Amino acid sequence: MTDVRVDHAVTSGTFSLDGETHQVDNNLWVVGDDQECLVIDAPHSVEDILAVVGDRRVKAIVCTHAHDDHVRVAPALREAVRAPILLHPDDRPLWELTHTDELWDADLSDGQVIEIGDTTLTVLHTPGHAPGAVCLWSADLGCVFTGDTLFQGGPGATGRSFSDRPTIETSIKAKLFALPGDTVVHTGHGDDTTIAAEEAALA
Ligand SMILES: [Zn+2]
Repeated sequence: MTDVRVDHAVTSGTFSLDGETHQVDNNLWVVGDDQECLVIDAPHSVEDILAVVGDRRVKAIVCTHAHDDHVRVAPALREAVRAPILLHPDDRPLWELTHTDELWDADLSDGQVIEIGDTTLTVLHTPGHAPGAVCLWSADLGCVFTGDTLFQGGPGATGRSFSDRPTIETSIKAKLFALPGDTVVHTGHGDDTTIAAEEAALA
């Protein structure tokens, strides 16, 4: 057993790409114990994120990908909590659409293990929705944070620049459907699902 828990809120703002802007609600996920936590993605509002963090030390800001609705306030949050931003380097072109004069601090890579409290998250590189999209899997917690790679109802969107449908399907089948079927999927937008439910739907 671990003392690490998952805290969640929903925060609202906009997503822009390819000249279009949409209103979006983003899930905000914070993983940690009473002392320290990881913030998964930094959408829309530093205030909303800090409300979930509370008085805990933020160990890192881990970005599932660099669409602006997931990284917009990452640099401002970094300022506020003095924690490094982690991103897969393949998402650099997307990051630079939002943040032209500052970078993230450390690269994520497939198979990387991130320690938090008495447990770990494993980085799964799952390109397709974005070239540097990653999922974060916790065997102890029985859950995976999928960003926009897998939602309740199927794969994330692949209609815009830097996305590719065959690539996302390969990623999901190779990396996510390899996880235990009862693994809870915490998504970037909308409701939770499970690996088994999505595997049945995509078969
Ligand atoms: Zn996205």
